[in-house]
Amino acid sequence: MPAKDRHPRSTTHLVQNQPPPLIGYNVFLEDRALVEALRREGAEWAADRAEAVGEIAGGEAIELGFAANANPPVLRTHDRYGHRIDQVDFHPAWHALMRISVAHELHALPWREPRAGAHVARAAMFSTLSQAEAGHGCPISMTHSSLPALRAQPEIAAEWEPKLMSLEYDAAFKPVADKSGAICGMAMTEKQGGSDVRENTTRAEPIGCGGPGGEYEITGHKWFCSAPMSDAFLILAKTGKGVSCFLLPRFLPDGTANTFLIQRLKDKLGNRSNASSEIEFDRSWARMVGEDGRGISTIIEMVNHTRLDCTIGSAAMMRQAVAQATHHCAHRAAFGDKLINQPLMQNVLADLAVESEAATISMMRLARAYDDSATDERWRSFARLTTAIVKYWVCKRTPAHVAEALECLGGNGYAEESGMPRLYREAPVNGVWEGSGNVMCLDVLRAIGRNPNGTEAFFDEVALAGGVDPRFDVFLERVRDGLNDVDGIEGRARRFVERLAIVFQASLLLRHGDPAVAEAYLATRVAGDRGHAFGTLPRHVEFRRIIDRARPNV
Ligand SMILES: Cc1cc2nc3c(=O)[nH]c(=O)nc-3n(C[C@H](O)[C@H](O)[C@H](O)COP(=O)(O)OP(=O)(O)OC[C@H]3O[C@@H](n4cnc5c(N)ncnc54)[C@H](O)[C@@H]3O)c2cc1C
Repeated sequence: MPAKDRHPRSTTHLVQNQPPPLIGYNVFLEDRALVEALRREGAEWAADRAEAVGEIAGGEAIELGFAANANPPVLRTHDRYGHRIDQVDFHPAWHALMRISVAHELHALPWREPRAGAHVARAAMFSTLSQAEAGHGCPISMTHSSLPALRAQPEIAAEWEPKLMSLEYDAAFKPVADKSGAICGMAMTEKQGGSDVRENTTRAEPIGCGGPGGEYEITGHKWFCSAPMSDAFLILAKTGKGVSCFLLPRFLPDGTANTFLIQRLKDKLGNRSNASSEIEFDRSWARMVGEDGRGISTIIEMVNHTRLDCTIGSAAMMRQAVAQATHHCAHRAAFGDKLINQPLMQNVLADLAVESEAATISMMRLARAYDDSATDERWRSFARLTTAIVKYWVCKRTPAHVAEALECLGGNGYAEESGMPRLYREAPVNGVWEGSGNVMCLDVLRAIGRNPNGTEAFFDEVALAGGVDPRFDVFLERVRDGLNDVDGIEGRARRFVERLAIVFQASLLLRHGDPAVAEAYLATRVAGDRGHAFGTLPRHVEFRRIIDRARPNV
């Protein structure tokens, strides 16, 4: 019997005017701003790899993402006989996503292949895959970011690096020596202080003489510890000399389990596929990484890389939001025409696309600075300052951006199966962790105050776009003047940092962006010709061109 005759009542259930799902497309190749940035920022050699990740992100990873989030991790504190086991069970989809990311080097590319463009290549791939599922990016990012910090203690790094850089994801709960690959987490935040880690109460007592590389017993707690099934964690604890950094593995050298008491998992707004836990240490075994009492400067190496990843992750969310919104509107009609042809919807879509492209272009430029930092102190200072600026702004823009994109899908956007609610719940997270908004702004002030080289490098970089557009030149002068207006600067830090971010994004768009996108950004974000909501671009903007550039060709 033909399919249409099998269900006689199907005439009451005609499905019309519903868009096809956005699946089976190459997430990387369809992201024109990202493809261009990969080439421009020195990672053309990785185009094939990014394309392979793009295929997965628009294919099998989509289902895996839904499954990993519909089946969140479950904590098992005890076995059936009452012994503590402190393990978290993840859905197979989570492990599959981890396997994909590790196999494609998202957890270690720049350390495995320290070549020009390695951070850029990784940024493009991380951005691409996290559009399908963002939660698993947390342990992938932490593993990647732990490696440079671990190198502060070369003998510990030498021991762990082969496993942390392995291309095999090994989820087994057993000593690292018996595993083909390892994952690393980070635990700094405590109940009484997260941003202010100097308030840590966790104590470290030396076993023997202690000191860098030495053994310690750690006693205390951590209020947030994501990915608690990682094989080891960089943690902060206090010695007699102050806050110090330690590597705390889940197993002791004799192969028995370290004391790692997972008290409960956080019931989180989003980021549901990932486990975030509260843990306690009771004379748990760890080794000191870096100098005694200088733990914050040791772990900051890790923190800066995770801040870069927060920026990449948020830019990825905006990109996915634009992909979904433009795709939906291209296929959905209302009031006699496709939404994508309706002038007011064009304004909304184009505005969202402009914001997304600005985020992409700035995070890729920032990734390049991490590549250049390896050999040039000036770029290191630039990266230090620019990370705080761009992380603040891109993460800050994401929740409003995603909410607006969700609305473009109408009621469908509010339904879980569209993927938009997950994106919406995930949108604030990068703004919170690894330095919340205010903390990032204060960090910018600190970096400017302490490191004139970074400030100079930043302004030299943005000035490369000077002389092309008077609106930009005037704005740049105002931003530069702001450096001298320090009265009450702490209370005005958000506005100050926002301008730094906008001048950076405008400069990049002017130099490298699509001209229509650059014009829209300049007219609105720089010259102020806009309202407060998305969708308030002025009439001269080339809406159609911007939308066509942003829309996945599916
Ligand atoms: C899903 C999730 C997973 C996490 N995973 C981890 C993890 O694996 N490891 C880990 O160590 N931590 C983790 N965290 C914790 C996270 O890093 C902290 O929540 C964050 O650093 C903020 O610290 P806090 O919660 O103590 O807030 P607070 O430090 O109390 O800050 C509260 C607010 O005050 C602002 N603020 C702070 N100081 C100032 C100031 N001087 N002036 C003005 N405003 C200020 C902050 O910007 C923030 O908005 C996770 C958090 C989340 C949400």
